[in-house]
Amino acid sequence: MSREMWPEQRPECRFLVDCMLGKLAKWLRILGYDTTYYSLIADHELIRIAWNEKRILLTRDVRLTQRREVTRYLLIKSDDYREQLRQVVWHYRLDASSYLFTRCLQCNSPLQDIEKARVRPWVPPYVFQTQELFRICPSCQQIYWAGTHKTKMLHRLAKILASHPLSSKEGE
Ligand SMILES: [Zn+2]
Repeated sequence: MSREMWPEQRPECRFLVDCMLGKLAKWLRILGYDTTYYSLIADHELIRIAWNEKRILLTRDVRLTQRREVTRYLLIKSDDYREQLRQVVWHYRLDASSYLFTRCLQCNSPLQDIEKARVRPWVPPYVFQTQELFRICPSCQQIYWAGTHKTKMLHRLAKILASHPLSSKEGE
């Protein structure tokens, strides 16, 4: 049976990303950070989840950060996802290499190892022939493997994080 990967090394920061920052949420999941995101959610729900789950709220909405119940937040400055990612990574000193590709990009669950033989019915024949290591999302059953899309993401990530971000304004 598959097992959970590196449970003792989970990154500390947990995020809740505001509706309009979907691309930022995806990239934080690529980095392996626990990132909750809803494309549609009411403000009071967002605040409730941040509070209950002790998540850092990432938002571009100043009014939201002024609410008394919102204690941990980072006000995102740019509307460009690359600048947003730079801001978050630099601000929280996120580890942008140790936990890469350990989390489901669709639903945020930690991925598990799965034996190659078990994925045969669900992956393209070429992928099955050329890849050895597979991971599965225990929640949505999405299967992941190393491939050209992963290499492209790594290139893009290196490029995004190569330059300095704008200075940040934040709570806590
Ligand atoms: Zn999933």
